[in-house]
Amino acid sequence: MKYMKKSFDGLLPYHSKLITDGIILNANESPILPPSKVIDEAKKEIFNIEFNRYPDMDEEILDNAIAKKFGIKRENVTVGVGSDELLDVLFRAVLEKDDIVLGFMPSFSMYQVFSKLQNAKYIPVLGDEFNIFNVDDMISKIKEYNPKLVLICSPNNPTGQYFTKDEVIKIIESTNAMIALDLAYIDFAKEDYTTIALNYDNVISFRTFSKAMALPSIRVGYAISKKENIDMLDAIKAPYSVTTISQIIATIAINNFDLYKGQIKMIINERERLYKELINLKINAYKSEANFIYCIMDDKLNDALLKNKIYIRKFKSNTYRITVGSSYENDKLIEVLKNETK
Ligand code: PMP
Repeated sequence: MKYMKKSFDGLLPYHSKLITDGIILNANESPILPPSKVIDEAKKEIFNIEFNRYPDMDEEILDNAIAKKFGIKRENVTVGVGSDELLDVLFRAVLEKDDIVLGFMPSFSMYQVFSKLQNAKYIPVLGDEFNIFNVDDMISKIKEYNPKLVLICSPNNPTGQYFTKDEVIKIIESTNAMIALDLAYIDFAKEDYTTIALNYDNVISFRTFSKAMALPSIRVGYAISKKENIDMLDAIKAPYSVTTISQIIATIAINNFDLYKGQIKMIINERERLYKELINLKINAYKSEANFIYCIMDDKLNDALLKNKIYIRKFKSNTYRITVGSSYENDKLIEVLKNETK
């Protein structure tokens, strides 16, 4: 790394091996394809693409479709290459060297990477002995550290904890820092409060097509906020980053959001079933409002899953996150765990 900045020493590439065979429950993906109408329309539209032209840099049609779904104005929306791109842009826009970023821990691992890239300091707000977070702890850390940026991931990846709208508002109203409200999994939770970002100058909601919309392959995320914040993100993000194909498919998907409701419900039902099964097996599973369940269990259970080509996400010894799969996949997972805990 001799050509790299000193402050980037020790940075390693984020790597997740592409698994194509077996039961894949390690990346919070949807176990099912988007509704067939979405796929069929997408296939038809691909024939009309002018492949020799750049994408629409203003993503006009897609921004309008997102704005329509939320009943807001197009000026309050922008899209990026996954919410990853937009989060990275926000960190770049807001943070200077040694600025403080506050976030719950454990949470989405990229927050720490994006902080490090700006030479900012990520201060973790820890939960109790069961990793349950308390918004009052966040508020007292805000008072103590005077952060530039505060992260709220709801439901939180990887623990699955959901913060109610009132809890989120309590944090927002305790600070003038920029607040990133990461709602990647909110479609699996009780209430979607994406648009509260429009009530404040300092809040940006981040959403993605990668989870409930079952489209991680197209890499599209979006941000919703006051116009000044959206303009700031647009000024910094790379030009033409969201490809024409991605814009077209995302537009079709959001225009057909109602067709997703059944599959989202199915995943929520499966999550509740899986949670009960894990608890019955005396596995320490966390209540979740996302499409995954965090759990503390013996590493030998994971060894058995691996032998059966069932892949879940390991964080450290005994600490795992299981994506909710299809009912067939969840049955297989439970069967292996049952045999191993007998
Ligand atoms: N936020 C959270 C909490 C996530 O878990 C993820 C993906 N794992 C992202 C953002 C980024 O998602 P994407 O770039 O696919 O939109």
